[in-house]
Amino acid sequence: MNVDNSLSPHGGVLVERVEPRPDRDALARLPAVEVREQIAHECLNIAYGFFSPLTGFMGSADVASVAETMRLTSGYVWPIPIVLDVPEAELRQAGVGVGDTVLLTHQGNPLATLEVSEIFAADLTELARHVYTTTDPAHPGVQRTLAYADLFVAGDVTLVCQPVINPPFDRYWRTPRQLRSELGEMGWQRAIAHQTRNVPHSGHEYMMKGAYMEAQADGVLVSAVIGEKKVGDYIDEAIVLSQDNLRSHGFFRDDIHRTTALLWDMRYAGPREAVFHALVRKNLGCTHHMFGRDHAGVGDYYGRYAAHEIFDGLPDLGIRSVLTLEWWYCPTCGGVAYEGICGHPDTKQDLAGRLIRSIIDGGAEPAPQTLRAETLALVRQCADEYGFGSPFVTERYLRERKPVLTVPASQSRH
Ligand SMILES: [Zn+2]
Repeated sequence: MNVDNSLSPHGGVLVERVEPRPDRDALARLPAVEVREQIAHECLNIAYGFFSPLTGFMGSADVASVAETMRLTSGYVWPIPIVLDVPEAELRQAGVGVGDTVLLTHQGNPLATLEVSEIFAADLTELARHVYTTTDPAHPGVQRTLAYADLFVAGDVTLVCQPVINPPFDRYWRTPRQLRSELGEMGWQRAIAHQTRNVPHSGHEYMMKGAYMEAQADGVLVSAVIGEKKVGDYIDEAIVLSQDNLRSHGFFRDDIHRTTALLWDMRYAGPREAVFHALVRKNLGCTHHMFGRDHAGVGDYYGRYAAHEIFDGLPDLGIRSVLTLEWWYCPTCGGVAYEGICGHPDTKQDLAGRLIRSIIDGGAEPAPQTLRAETLALVRQCADEYGFGSPFVTERYLRERKPVLTVPASQSRH
């Protein structure tokens, strides 16, 4: 029985570009370029359709159009350039030109082929100005943009190896096709997405519950962004496991809550990244996406609710945004309260990351209104099992953690 979720992917067709039986000898003869983790993530996202309708890395016309108008040249909304940067010297050494097929390797092993349609340079400062509305090099997205190599290589990408997703992420990572099928089997006609890089505190939990009810949804899909880390972030393992822990302890019924992993290196592009998150979750089969305060922002580059306003200008997005104010702890109301309801803003306590961190670090038992005991126990378990004693990223974690994905040297069919 075909139980695909009825919602159309962005652009109408779910892109799938995976070659199950590549000719290994032919691949070995191609010029090869080794790609870093960010690009490997993006190859997977293109090939499995997370980035539908993109079929490859963007050419100059799409990059300019996306930067200036937030649309692809085809007219579909797309807010963030997806580009493959390669140093000119490396391209010359590999002997790569337009019309060639290049083998992209990761961890030294074949990952994907790229059919080169264009090689071009872009003004990185201008690109940053458009996408981030700032060129301040302290902004992590601007930093990422200014660090691009001097040339971009455009072209369609096809996976020649399906990487192994390592535990515990293997339980959560799904391709859009797999996820659409699972949501369909569960009967989720209306699925609302929650974007996270966090261990959930009560504010997050109630945001999910409130948005679920507002959307009259059949279920909440927690889409945890797994990618490049900096010291002090939550470790990836704690994020996915603690989100799913809310379901396994019954704070969400089993049939209305699922957690999945998205391999993406955050750009912190604020409102533009909110649009990007919406499009990717549309491709996962979600009909709605919730957005809270300062979505995907950093510092004070973007207004508190800038991510809410941007959707007004995008009526053809194809996924509904559910805009929520803040949930906080109010001792007068006697529990977790909503900014739009609670009349005690002077005594409310923000459920800020800092408070939650002090609970986790300090060993104090939290009030159940801030961080659930079940979450704290799980986070401590993750610290021991995956974090070298800390639920937060340390230098040691960055050096020694087990990678999320492994590209095997050669792949057996079964
Ligand atoms: Zn109150």
